[in-house]
Amino acid sequence: MAKRRKKRYKKTKKINVFFCIVVAVIFSAVILVSLSESMQFQYIPTVSEVEEFFTGKKPTNINSDCSVHFIDVGQGDCTLIISDKQTILIDAGENDKGKVVADYLKKLKIKKIDLLVATHPHSDHIGGMDTIIREFDIGQILMPKLPSKLVPTTRTYTDVLSAIADKGLKITPSKPGMTFEFGKGEFKVLGPVDEFEELNDTSLVSHFKYDNDETFLLTGDMEMNAEKALLKSGNKIQSDVLKVAHHGSSSSTHKAFFDKVNPEYSVISVGDGNKYNHPNKDTLDTIKKNNKQLYRTDYDGSVVFHIIDGEFQIKTTNTKQ
Ligand SMILES: [Zn+2]
Repeated sequence: MAKRRKKRYKKTKKINVFFCIVVAVIFSAVILVSLSESMQFQYIPTVSEVEEFFTGKKPTNINSDCSVHFIDVGQGDCTLIISDKQTILIDAGENDKGKVVADYLKKLKIKKIDLLVATHPHSDHIGGMDTIIREFDIGQILMPKLPSKLVPTTRTYTDVLSAIADKGLKITPSKPGMTFEFGKGEFKVLGPVDEFEELNDTSLVSHFKYDNDETFLLTGDMEMNAEKALLKSGNKIQSDVLKVAHHGSSSSTHKAFFDKVNPEYSVISVGDGNKYNHPNKDTLDTIKKNNKQLYRTDYDGSVVFHIIDGEFQIKTTNTKQ
């Protein structure tokens, strides 16, 4: 008698487990289908998409092997490239933005900058760099070689030199054609291809390519003379993403140059209500007429291009439009 009861109990337990599994499968299927419909996805949503759907916030943790971050530093420039766990930082914003950049890097758990690039020694590009040099491990530091009459004597510049000296680091002078490999990423110096009278034109211009596919042109503040020289040099400048030179000023991004780059996306790093009236309206027109998408750090905050399976996933930190 007791044996039979035990058997029946076992059978009931089996049915219960089976029933639970069936209910769980049906329940999951209903949730996935309703999510797919309401989010208008033709496929099962990713964890990030579900997170965004429920929280209304852009997900922060995306497992991309490569991401390029145009960090919002107000009126200035700062671009971070993460390529297969190695890092390149190009410029670091104004003097008061060093902490903003350092906090951004720490949030991403970055401890080392493998390649630190100073495009040119204006304060809106190298102001925060001494903070970065002091707070992080630094691999190599790359700067363009300046004609002696253009070497600045500003406090901002000497602060950077002191930070470099204090850590026993050295500056590597950049040369066009220099190439650095970071996993599947290739960082190549394109310019300056000539000597120029204007400090902006001496900006280190670089091209980043990931997995032989996605491409970025990073221009510092180069102006029209440098753009023309770069065009003439025959370098391949066509890129998917253009960091628009000199905060969208009228002195840069002339039409022939922009047409040759022919980007799908452009990013202007610029401060809200800046005193220079950047970006310029004509420059914006040149970009908007031909460009698929324009991002501005004064509207969008930091703009991040994640590369996932050969596709861009673009995230911005601001919704202010
Ligand atoms: Zn600038």
